[in-house]
Amino acid sequence: MSDDEPDVNISGGSAGGGTAAEFAAGAADTRAEAVVDRLGELYWQKTYGGQDAFECLVRTVLSQNTSDVASQPAHDALMERYADRDDADGLADALAHADHGELADTIRSAGLYNQKATVLIDAAERVLAEHGSADAFDEYVREREPATVRDELLDLDGVGPKTADCVLLFAGGRGGVFPVDTHVHRIYRRLGVAPPDADHEAVRAVLERDVPAAKCGFGHTASIQFGREYCSARKPACLDGPEACPMADLCEQVGVDPGSGRVVDPADAASDGR
Ligand code: SF4
Repeated sequence: MSDDEPDVNISGGSAGGGTAAEFAAGAADTRAEAVVDRLGELYWQKTYGGQDAFECLVRTVLSQNTSDVASQPAHDALMERYADRDDADGLADALAHADHGELADTIRSAGLYNQKATVLIDAAERVLAEHGSADAFDEYVREREPATVRDELLDLDGVGPKTADCVLLFAGGRGGVFPVDTHVHRIYRRLGVAPPDADHEAVRAVLERDVPAAKCGFGHTASIQFGREYCSARKPACLDGPEACPMADLCEQVGVDPGSGRVVDPADAASDGR
């Protein structure tokens, strides 16, 4: 197991916290759990939670549809301009009253900055209107029924399932939440753990059913790292042979054909009858 988590991993890097933990491996009841156990040996085993919920929401909105490398500077610039470390409500207050153009300019490096500025201002207004303070929102995320919290987060314009699930995991510390980003969506369909044509929500349902609640958090963050290092979108490591991927014996390689070097989305492989 390694604690070698990259600083730029906005979903779970050093800024995302996480506490080293140990979970029993080797008794995996499902292939999904066996994959997560191996990721735990390869990278890290951690538990998450404890981030401020509103800041976590801001961070995750900034990371939508872009790389952590692009969104981290936007996050840093936003925090420098709008956060007051001595006032828990400072960030939400400041964003609720922010000038749209100025905020958009501050977060420009994250891409889609006009849209994201609108989402952040609206979210700040809603959180303060409905919870009274960022602290109360934080408590709500940590303590209320996860499905209720998830529904409320999804009701915010610009907040989709991955963003809501990241807030539940990294702020709420909720077990049994396995956020599905583009890496997770690709990897578990290639592995054959989820159906090839499963959408993000269907992949999430499989993982949250088959992976024990306590392992879902590091399953998410370590999968992202695995997607970057081994099972990338265009050049999965197994194109160089099964010995190049530590997950090869657990994988059905759906959509990956090392013989021809052809790589397609698993859904397209299924419709091709391959
Ligand atoms: S064997 Fe290939 S497709 Fe399967 S997890 Fe490894 S790199 Fe991805």
